[in-house]
Amino acid sequence: MNKEALMSQVEKNVINCKECRLYQEATNGVPGEGNINSPLVFIGEAPGAVEDQTGRPFVGRAGKLLENLLGRIGYKREDVWIGNIIKHRPPQNRDPMPDEIRACASYLSLQLKTMNPLLIVTLGRFAMHYFYKEGTISNNKGQLLKGEKYLIYPVYHPAAGLRNPGMLRSLENDFLKIPSILEDIKKGSSSLAINNNQDDAQPTLF
Ligand code: URA
Repeated sequence: MNKEALMSQVEKNVINCKECRLYQEATNGVPGEGNINSPLVFIGEAPGAVEDQTGRPFVGRAGKLLENLLGRIGYKREDVWIGNIIKHRPPQNRDPMPDEIRACASYLSLQLKTMNPLLIVTLGRFAMHYFYKEGTISNNKGQLLKGEKYLIYPVYHPAAGLRNPGMLRSLENDFLKIPSILEDIKKGSSSLAINNNQDDAQPTLF
């Protein structure tokens, strides 16, 4: 199967997914969308109310902020791929449960394997922890990290930026660094990363 066919097969599977309880109260599955050839992908937590209604990621208030931040670094939302670790909305936007994250993991895993991005920007703590089990969002935001399979760059969730002016400033600052981080990765000259090997927590420059 080619890349497009694989991605649309995952989308169909997400839409029909009954692997955990979340589909019962959700209206639509939200597989993710955008440029599947982008070197840069953005991964959030889970769909909210507007995403659930439309089947599209980041189309509510947090999505508008994400689009604004993308614009400031020269991207339109359709230039990059945007998705979530959880594909159906948790009731009342509650935090996703560990078994729900586990049940959903194969979808994002296959999407990422298919796209093979150079850099994953994680939005918020749940998305960061999906790729990087150690650490905290407040300590690790704005740092390039080496996850098991991908380079990740955690930033605060746009919804946190909407609630808290300090977090918004941090989110803006961290976003502005994305183009140079991506360039460094393309040139193979990145020196920011630390190793996420769980039994070897030594910092690694590469
Ligand atoms: N918050 C998320 O984490 N994802 C969305 O798609 C929308 C809001």
